[in-house]
Amino acid sequence: MRTAQSPSACGLCGINEREHFTRYATTDEQGNPLPGHYYTAPTQEQIAARIRARRAERDAEPDQT
Ligand SMILES: [Zn+2]
Repeated sequence: MRTAQSPSACGLCGINEREHFTRYATTDEQGNPLPGHYYTAPTQEQIAARIRARRAERDAEPDQT
């Protein structure tokens, strides 16, 4: 199961960039209400944190053999 966000996902709601372009979001990935917005680029800090989270998640996955 994949839980880590794409590093380039929206900085406001975490929805993937490509998916976000097709819709005007009013909730985040968990369905929490947000002011309506279009895709907003994440900060460098958010990108770095997401990359770390993805790496940690990948390292935690058992080998699929
Ligand atoms: Zn968003």
